[in-house]
Amino acid sequence: MPTVLLTGATGYIASHTWLALQAAGFDVVGVDDFSNSSPVVLERLAELSGRAPQFERASVCNAAAISGIFARHRPQAVVHFAAFKAVGESVERPLAYYANNVGGLVAVCEAMQAHGVGRFVFSSSATVYGQPETLPIREDAPVGATNPYGATKLIGEGVLRDLGRADPAWQTACLRYFNPVGAHESGRIGEDPRGVPNNLMPYVAQVAVGRREALTVYGNDYPTPDGTGVRDYIHVMDLAEGHVAALRALFDAQGSFTVNLGTGQGYSVLDVVAAYERASGQPVPYVVAPRRAGDVAACWADPAAAAQRLGWRAQRGLDAMCADSWRWQQGNPQGYGAG
Ligand code: UDP
Repeated sequence: MPTVLLTGATGYIASHTWLALQAAGFDVVGVDDFSNSSPVVLERLAELSGRAPQFERASVCNAAAISGIFARHRPQAVVHFAAFKAVGESVERPLAYYANNVGGLVAVCEAMQAHGVGRFVFSSSATVYGQPETLPIREDAPVGATNPYGATKLIGEGVLRDLGRADPAWQTACLRYFNPVGAHESGRIGEDPRGVPNNLMPYVAQVAVGRREALTVYGNDYPTPDGTGVRDYIHVMDLAEGHVAALRALFDAQGSFTVNLGTGQGYSVLDVVAAYERASGQPVPYVVAPRRAGDVAACWADPAAAAQRLGWRAQRGLDAMCADSWRWQQGNPQGYGAG
């Protein structure tokens, strides 16, 4: 089976994808600089997979280091996760986002070109749709960035499109993620945000486990059934399996593609709170505050293109997302920090 290079490998989505790729028979080499992740992930992956992970510590912006990794491991494809992902921080530190998210992507693509590797899976985001005009969102919907983070994802997609036009040896998959949540069924790996979580489910998890007092609900006056924001939450293991399906498609057939990875189902903030209370048996108190700047009322995917092109559909529902998140949160109340 082919060897796959995973960048940002110890991060939340990549660490789950690592297991899914191994389960599908791929050999995986991971790269990360631990700028937003913990080395403890590697111990957990070893425990879950029963073998020592192949890992190189490097920044994707370090072209010489990345080139050395290609020379040593000879990967036949790259799944590129390494990127910063906090919208608010991207507004405050745009250069850091362009340097890491765009500069890192370019450095990895240069190394691929130098080593004759053309298969590339890119972590994109539903954020490229900006304020969606129609729901569910199809891949041909208008795109537009509303913040520097989103801009780096759009530029990344553009870089890959232009590479494909310049040389058909580039076979690229842009995967537009909706809202990844949950954790591996074992509860041994999961999401471990640094500082105060920006995203809903990790915040809810920390309230349920007693690490924070109450959730702040950003707005209950949206034009949605209960007034709170609606999103397409997708279990991180479904997302991980979507990457396996995308990679298989790149090995099986010619052609680049862009697909949504979502469930097609929207849930409100209060739906998530209620489901989490059920899954955890813990109360999740909340207070309602004004809307958060830049938030959209509702956003969910049309997942038909991924089903058709990849034969992939999300399998796990909101209750499984909450139950698996809770297993991880309960077993690791301080994330990987406690080791
Ligand atoms: N949200 C909230 N409180 C929080 C975090 C998020 O009410 O502490 C809401 C947010 O307004 C949105 C939904 O939860 O309606 C999902 O937000 P998240 O940041 O997880 O994802 P995104 O906004 O990027 O889709």
